[in-house]
Amino acid sequence: MSTVYYAEGGMNTRVQYRTILVVGAGAAGMSAAIAAGRSAACSGRSCSITLLERNARPGTKIRISGGGKCNVTHRGTPSELLEKGFFRLNERRFLRHALYVFSNSDLLTLLLSQGVETLERADGKIFPLSGDASSVAVAFEALLRASSVQQLFSGRVRRVERKGKLFYVTTDEASFTADVVILATGGVSYSRTGTTGDGLAIARSFGHSLKDSSAALSPVYTVKAPPAPLSGLSLRSAGFAAVAEGNRVDRRGDILFTHRGYSGPAVLSLSRDIAELCSRFGSALLFADLFPEHGVAELEEHLLRHGRKNGAQMVRKFLQSCPMAPLHGGFALAAYGTIPTALVPFLMREAALEPDVTWSTLAREKRQSLLAVLKGFPLGRVREVPLDQGEVSAGGVALSEVNPKSMESRIVPGLFLCGELLDYAGEIGGFNLQAAFSTGWLAGSHALYSAQE
Ligand SMILES: Cc1cc2nc3c(=O)[nH]c(=O)nc-3n(C[C@H](O)[C@H](O)[C@H](O)COP(=O)(O)OP(=O)(O)OC[C@H]3O[C@@H](n4cnc5c(N)ncnc54)[C@H](O)[C@@H]3O)c2cc1C
Repeated sequence: MSTVYYAEGGMNTRVQYRTILVVGAGAAGMSAAIAAGRSAACSGRSCSITLLERNARPGTKIRISGGGKCNVTHRGTPSELLEKGFFRLNERRFLRHALYVFSNSDLLTLLLSQGVETLERADGKIFPLSGDASSVAVAFEALLRASSVQQLFSGRVRRVERKGKLFYVTTDEASFTADVVILATGGVSYSRTGTTGDGLAIARSFGHSLKDSSAALSPVYTVKAPPAPLSGLSLRSAGFAAVAEGNRVDRRGDILFTHRGYSGPAVLSLSRDIAELCSRFGSALLFADLFPEHGVAELEEHLLRHGRKNGAQMVRKFLQSCPMAPLHGGFALAAYGTIPTALVPFLMREAALEPDVTWSTLAREKRQSLLAVLKGFPLGRVREVPLDQGEVSAGGVALSEVNPKSMESRIVPGLFLCGELLDYAGEIGGFNLQAAFSTGWLAGSHALYSAQE
């Protein structure tokens, strides 16, 4: 703690002066610096806040988020956001306080204060009305200026050390001392945006344990790429599963065939689990369930009923554009996707059916193999879940070593950690930015009151 003396009414008054250094100007770091500035202004305490960023400007990832439109947060109460956006119980528990302290409506109010109006889509995702992600970054830049945060760009922090109660922070060109350091250096994916894991190494140097980084919200590459005619095709509302040595993980949603494997919401969502299966068992097999609403017996019953009425119909004609819908009312319900015509020859081949087989000539065992294929069409063996392609990375600083009420390290007083650097990863839908803004805000609000005071 630095102590400065102000002359007040002829008397020397002792005022505690704090220097706060925030490393990383992404969503979490900017939010932390602004919250620290506001908390200092509210409490009348004097402090200096410096934000260090290795890029030439702040908010690089915000500017490319949501395909340049920035899905900034999601509709709902903090509890609903936690339930929809974070599937792992420990992560939900950890983030709860942060999301209540700085909620989605707090974020939207802050953006609105800078003239950024937002639009809520039917699926609950919230975007700037302008459709321009950079408007969010620009709003935060204005808020940083209003909070008197000193911003230093193009300087990569190389080292943070602690001697006594002070931190010594070294960049390529300069050195700083600080009472408090807030680490907000992000994850390790999309490394070209500046996230190369520097903060993780710094956290480790202070004795923090790290959960290995792995891909999340990432496409999945297969050993053998999907056949060229299927590239670009999508299955709507299908089941998507990965299996390794009797362990199975799955999701419901859209699957997109790509020239290297698979993408789309169901795949991105499951990619973290697939990456974990691969790291435990070396590999995993992927499957699509084209009728995820139904068990095998129910589907068979419907195929039989349909076949009895339409004996002369070729099975492949039936499959072409067959709704992958709930079967109540027969196959006429088209509320879901349909089986893409281009996929049908591959389904027929996989089930070993002759191209011109009709319902009346379909032998029992062939019907069984068709059922097996419809319920578990093999998509291939996973080659890689590419870490750098993930919209986020899972893993990072162990949550148990960070106080969820303040984001202060439980190991090093005065060190705060926030954002994607921590061992959580949310789903697609605005949850990751919200978590970064919320954990950053919580860290910044407590920085003046750290445990080392
Ligand atoms: C392509 C893409 C699209 C996305 N779309 C969305 C979306 O629409 N909605 C959503 O919720 N989430 C989205 N995300 C995820 C979201 O952007 C991140 O989870 C979020 O930005 C993490 O914020 P952060 O502040 O923790 O880290 P970051 O935003 O990554 O910020 C970390 C900052 O620290 C800096 N830094 C790192 N090391 C150092 C160092 N040594 N010295 C100085 N500075 C350093 C980095 O340059 C970076 O600016 C997307 C991600 C990607 C890659």
